[in-house]
Amino acid sequence: MSTKKERVKRRKKMGKGSRNCVRCDTHRAIIRSYGLNMCRRCFRETAEKLGFRKYS
Ligand SMILES: [Zn+2]
Repeated sequence: MSTKKERVKRRKKMGKGSRNCVRCDTHRAIIRSYGLNMCRRCFRETAEKLGFRKYS
């Protein structure tokens, strides 16, 4: 059967141009729009400073 060694960390399996968050270095839910390159989590924090407003 399958071994537990299958649990290998995958690196950059996403498409080309995928970047990590510039703040927390995660690669999940990166927002590249507006040239932010942040994850949505950091985006929410930074968005307020940039003048973005919460979607209602
Ligand atoms: Zn982040």
